[in-house]
Amino acid sequence: MDKDKTIFFNKIRPLRDEIDRIDSEILSLLARRQAQVEQVVSLKKAHKMPVYHPAREEDLISRLRAQAVGARVDPDFMEDLYRVILRQSRLKQTRKMELKSIRPDAKVLVVGGAGQMGSLFAGLFIRSGYEVRILDRNDWDDARALCKDVDLVLISVPIEKTGEVINTLSPMISPGTILADLTSVKQGPLADMCRAHKGPVMGLHPLFGPTSDSLDKQIVVICPGRDEESCLWLKDQMGIWGAVIVEASAEEHDQIMEIVQALRHFATFCFGDFLYQRQIPLERTLEFSSPIYRLELGMVGRLFAQDPNLYAEIIFATPERRQLLREYVDSFGRHLDMLDRNDKTEFIKQFNRLANWFGPFSEQAMRESTFIINKLIERF
Ligand code: NAD
Repeated sequence: MDKDKTIFFNKIRPLRDEIDRIDSEILSLLARRQAQVEQVVSLKKAHKMPVYHPAREEDLISRLRAQAVGARVDPDFMEDLYRVILRQSRLKQTRKMELKSIRPDAKVLVVGGAGQMGSLFAGLFIRSGYEVRILDRNDWDDARALCKDVDLVLISVPIEKTGEVINTLSPMISPGTILADLTSVKQGPLADMCRAHKGPVMGLHPLFGPTSDSLDKQIVVICPGRDEESCLWLKDQMGIWGAVIVEASAEEHDQIMEIVQALRHFATFCFGDFLYQRQIPLERTLEFSSPIYRLELGMVGRLFAQDPNLYAEIIFATPERRQLLREYVDSFGRHLDMLDRNDKTEFIKQFNRLANWFGPFSEQAMRESTFIINKLIERF
């Protein structure tokens, strides 16, 4: 080895040793942090408190970002690091808490329990120690026996079957049983449940698909139907599983879903169809793609990997929904004139008006989408 290299290695060795020591310290600090978290879990478990505490996490992130600036560490890096640590800690807590049941002796019947969402919820109830029974489409001969003494009936059948299933099943369940459903539309099923069953009723809409393996930070919308008090344990149980509960009336839920789901999915469908009509070579476009296009194409492609019946039910749910979609398509026509006139000035005027209307949300959108784009670049 020449002299210069020897000097280099002599200088770098203590620096590397110090880095190794720091890494061991970080590791033991993480282990200490984990031990503290476990104490918090025991407390939360004892007091039946949910895992996710959004305000506390956001306070922590803000404080650490500020500290990072003071310590000359990139605040975005600090936030990334802590989001990973916090998620890991929540998942660990959720796995432990999942085992906790709010009503240990309750019996749960999942109708459509062999399907995607039904089996996901059946699995959660089973892991928490509930007695779970499944009634799927070929089990109707045993329906009466399956309904005997159940505390909760959770309906998770295709949307178009929900009304019929509610009507057939309700006379078989006792008035003390909670009747709940997972249907993606809420007004119709909730009204049907309240009409057919005289006991507690609660509408649920999990805002996630069956591919999620945890309820961590996943949103479940709850639409109270009747006797909220008796349904409380179900709500608390989902909190224990890590879900974030949002309460809404069925009317408000369906109205917001017009935008969040129906408009979104329909616009995605139209974009996919346009690409198909023009026979666009998708793979080739990806080779040229900006990250934002890759992200957008990912969202479009994702739709067509899923069940068309579910999306048809969501998009075509009500005449009001279909009218909204018609108005959306019509609104494209207004912009055609602008194109025909080659009117860039009008485009910029409208752009500024919209930017003004989106206001501070644009900054949040920029921050969040940049984060996703960076993750995409990191991975692909
Ligand atoms: P799925 O097709 O995977 O499951 C439906 C199940 O119902 C199947 O096992 C089927 O055999 C069974 N079934 C059909 N007819 C029946 C009948 N008459 N009696 C008993 N069982 C019957 O559908 P899924 O995606 O799990 O959707 C179920 C519900 O969950 C729907 O209401 C849907 O709106 C809601 N949901 C779905 C998602 C999602 O992303 N898949 C998300 C949120 C809510």
